[in-house]
Amino acid sequence: MGYKKVCFTCRKAFSVYKNATEKINRSCPECGKQTIIFSHLFKPPKQTDIKKWKVVEFLKDHGFVYQRVYATYTDSILSGQSGYPETMAEAKKFIIDYKDQARLLIWDNDKKEFMKVG
Ligand SMILES: [Zn+2]
Repeated sequence: MGYKKVCFTCRKAFSVYKNATEKINRSCPECGKQTIIFSHLFKPPKQTDIKKWKVVEFLKDHGFVYQRVYATYTDSILSGQSGYPETMAEAKKFIIDYKDQARLLIWDNDKKEFMKVG
């Protein structure tokens, strides 16, 4: 399974295919800034769609990086774009409804694994 590294400066996502021995280079290939690691399920909005990028950033800040989110723990699965909100109003409700499933992940380069933060 791959990941995507997302640059909020360039408003672009880059696919990351890592193997166990390889370190993820988190810098953006275009501007060199540190990117954020997202689930491979993330499909970036158009670069010019700043409104939608703001929603993506808001979700990211609250621990939603397009990982799978479960509507209920036994029922349907919202995955990637399909279950994720597209407007800020929906996003504000979403982070409350699914706050138990928020994940704040950072890539630990030394341990080579995702670390939960916050
Ligand atoms: Zn960039």
